[in-house]
Amino acid sequence: MYKLASKDRRPHSVVRAAGVPFGGEGFTMIAGPCAVESRAQIERTACFVAEAGAQMLRAGAYKPRTSPYSFQGLGDDGVELIAQASRTAQIPAVVEAMSETDLPVLCRNVDMIQIGARNMQNFALLTAAARTGKPILLKRGPSATLDEVLYAAEYILIEGNPNVVLCERGIRGFDPQTRNVFDLAGALRLKELTHLPVIADPSHATGRASLIEPIVLAAAAAGLDGAIVEVHPDPPAALSDVEQALDFPAFTRLMGRLRALIQASPSNIPLAACR
Ligand code: PEP
Ligand code: MN
Repeated sequence: MYKLASKDRRPHSVVRAAGVPFGGEGFTMIAGPCAVESRAQIERTACFVAEAGAQMLRAGAYKPRTSPYSFQGLGDDGVELIAQASRTAQIPAVVEAMSETDLPVLCRNVDMIQIGARNMQNFALLTAAARTGKPILLKRGPSATLDEVLYAAEYILIEGNPNVVLCERGIRGFDPQTRNVFDLAGALRLKELTHLPVIADPSHATGRASLIEPIVLAAAAAGLDGAIVEVHPDPPAALSDVEQALDFPAFTRLMGRLRALIQASPSNIPLAACR
């Protein structure tokens, strides 16, 4: 049994990353490009998303790409650029670790470490990331059951690191019209099973910029704890995940509609069945 992650232990946990809460009353927004590409790109995006109301910045430096011929990220130099942008814009940052060797640089420079979908069951990485003491954003593997997600979280919790946020980023389906299948029911079932916060990643779930806003609103209305979305100053020029990046006006509109939804809801979030 996943005894540390289980809801039997407590009804819900609030996880904080550099003071940003996940799992409290609010809906926490993380935004930024798929990957850091240049100083100008990450600085502009960091300042913009912070101004628009995002609480955390995201950007990859070590990129898990399907093809070895695709852009692989800027590596350690990219982490430095994200850290500088995060300081300039005064917004904490989350960056993915692809391997244990990435952890020391991430530890010195960022506020939260992401374990990506492809590494959800890399148990050595989970243990090493947990031992850094940093909060961990743990993404669901593309074909992981909820029990497998919770056992993966358990590997982090068992190291004495209680700061785990789970992320539904879509599971593998059969129809290429969407990149993955956004499993809202699965994310809500997770919240019935665990006290840990659960957020949505509509960017990787859908692979389409047009579907990001409605999925974020659905996640908020359903009582999930936040969302992580990809935003780029010039989406057609993005070096990775071109189709799913929001441009700045689309992100502004999303944040406006999210605020309106939350304000219109009787007790902040209406259908928060799992709280
Ligand atoms: C990402 O967030 O940049 C990413 C690669 O996501 P995932 O691991 O969910 O595919
Ligand atoms: Mn991406």
